[in-house]
Amino acid sequence: MRIGHYILLFTTLRIITGCTPPQNQGNQTSDTDTIVSGKVKPTPPPLCDGFDFPVGNADGKGAYTDLASGKTYDSWYVAVETGDDFELGIHTGEDWNGTGGGNTDMGQPVYAIGTGIVRSAQAYPAPLGKVVMLEHQYLEADTICTLFSVYAHLDSLIVHKGDSINRRAQVGTIGNGGGDLLSAHLHLEIRKASLKDTPVLFWPSLMGKDKEWVMANYERPSTFIQSNRTLPSKPR
Ligand SMILES: [Zn+2]
Repeated sequence: MRIGHYILLFTTLRIITGCTPPQNQGNQTSDTDTIVSGKVKPTPPPLCDGFDFPVGNADGKGAYTDLASGKTYDSWYVAVETGDDFELGIHTGEDWNGTGGGNTDMGQPVYAIGTGIVRSAQAYPAPLGKVVMLEHQYLEADTICTLFSVYAHLDSLIVHKGDSINRRAQVGTIGNGGGDLLSAHLHLEIRKASLKDTPVLFWPSLMGKDKEWVMANYERPSTFIQSNRTLPSKPR
């Protein structure tokens, strides 16, 4: 089946900066969702104190042992980069693989890149598999910025929608999305706040978006993480 079968109706993008002064954030200290104008306003996540890589150690490196063969491989790499044009269109993030290749990384842990709240965690038909989306907020030049990290093709889910989780919490395990189309790998996206109203399975190529648009609305995960390993995390 084509990925397009799973794409929900695209909601109109609202172009926003994604960063708001803390004093304009409203009720940020509530432990529960706040009712605003009759709608439930989701509780914002705690501020990130920095970001880490999603597989291997916090630096995205380190050995792993193939659960099927027992063989050990030395590290991790990105096989497909953000903005690459491949058979399904413009790639929206990074495909992380163990250096053993193939399905050697099947079942390895996938970690939250930063402190956040689980906005979605559910299974989809192959080849998407199980997908987790987290919302993160962090301080940049004294303003609060919002991002969403998406982890796709997972073999198992460890978190649930609404969970508040810490940096490096395990969210699931690497999978191939089910079926025979893919080798096991982690598809990682970091979506900017401009995509906050888009569905989890949003795929811009199917909406006529080009590479320039993708690069404007998604971070390059490794570049972003490496540039934000440590962040100020003063209380709200
Ligand atoms: Zn991918």
